[in-house]
Amino acid sequence: MMNDVWLLKPAELSLKGDNRKSFEGVLKSNIQRLLAALGEDKTKVKFTKGRYYLQTPCDKSEQIENMLSHLVGISGWAKVITCEKNVEAILSACIEEGKKITAKGINTFKIDARRTDKSFPLTSYDLCCKGGEAVTDALHDLKVDIHNPGDTIRVEIREKAFVYSGGSKGLGGLPVGTAGRGMLLLSGGIDSPVAGFLMACRGMNIDAVHFHSYPYTSNDAKQKAVRLSRITGSYCMGIKLYILNFTKVQMRIKEKAPLPWTTVLLRMAMMEAAEKAARKTKCKALITGESLSQVASQTIENLNCTQSRIKLPVLRPLIGFDKHSIIREAQRIGTYDVSIEPHVDCCMLFSPAHPVLHGDVKEANALYETLELDTLIDEAIADYEVVK
Ligand code: ATP
Ligand code: MG
Repeated sequence: MMNDVWLLKPAELSLKGDNRKSFEGVLKSNIQRLLAALGEDKTKVKFTKGRYYLQTPCDKSEQIENMLSHLVGISGWAKVITCEKNVEAILSACIEEGKKITAKGINTFKIDARRTDKSFPLTSYDLCCKGGEAVTDALHDLKVDIHNPGDTIRVEIREKAFVYSGGSKGLGGLPVGTAGRGMLLLSGGIDSPVAGFLMACRGMNIDAVHFHSYPYTSNDAKQKAVRLSRITGSYCMGIKLYILNFTKVQMRIKEKAPLPWTTVLLRMAMMEAAEKAARKTKCKALITGESLSQVASQTIENLNCTQSRIKLPVLRPLIGFDKHSIIREAQRIGTYDVSIEPHVDCCMLFSPAHPVLHGDVKEANALYETLELDTLIDEAIADYEVVK
């Protein structure tokens, strides 16, 4: 069977010093795991001189494109023609790429040539000239435009010659698995999946915890969190989702706390439970979808209350994002349509009409302690459901 060859460019790795090798290794093993999940031979990935090459059967093209569009740590990829390092073969590959360009209705192009192998007889400049000439001779609809080309045919002379055009932009970022593990507080909303995605793009492995209040919240709400974790997980090399029943905690808060404080106290309890869970799974940070002043519980004072009992760092990658930007990211990663499905989140239960806006940390903690939540939180943690 015929094979496709794909060339992948790692993102950001060029910035790394001594640990570059280990980053490259993690990216390679992520690619191997994704190939294996498609039932492909994981030995068909090679790394040389700053590039990854994959060889995959032609009939898997669509799945491979999909896989690469979810792969954190590459700045771009392209399907390439590989040929021997002789001028004739390279020029005819350039013409093949030219045909693909005209098929897209584009009529200008340029050639960009690079030699890693300096023993190749033509210079990059010579290759560009010869390639441009060969393509325009063969394809009369295409013109060279060096300054504003509709597309670029790239020629790289390495162990072999690689010729390609077009190509796709990757997600960028650092390979998942190079920055420790974080515990994402995943609600059913728009923000938290995006927060998890962004931290995965900084190299973190992601676990997630979702709190529900069944039977006050529906089973659908829980399933929504599961679906969101699957979509988010498709960028994170998978997510393990811990589902915790917080009904008793919420009932205790409802019974004992002053109404304006309920949301902040619930958030404090969530953080505390998430931190306990995080320590068990060796997570080094908590991650939330909080954004400064988005809602009453996210004023700077209330954020301060929320994290006041937590020792682990709380990462809030969306802190400076406005809602429109968050929505755009959610649409891009494919979580938005699920997030906006109507459901009752546990935060909406008993939520006060006039919440505390600028909570005082001491007061928050004094109130929190009257609730005596420790046992209830431990019970919730002991009784988790887990979805991989
Ligand atoms: P999202 O922020 O995901 O869109 P939201 O805006 O409804 O949902 P907020 O009420 O703003 O959520 O909550 C702020 C953050 O607290 C969330 O981003 C999430 O990290 C965490 N959180 C809220 N509710 C839950 C829950 N039921 N389970 C886990 N984490 C939650
Ligand atoms: Mg939010």
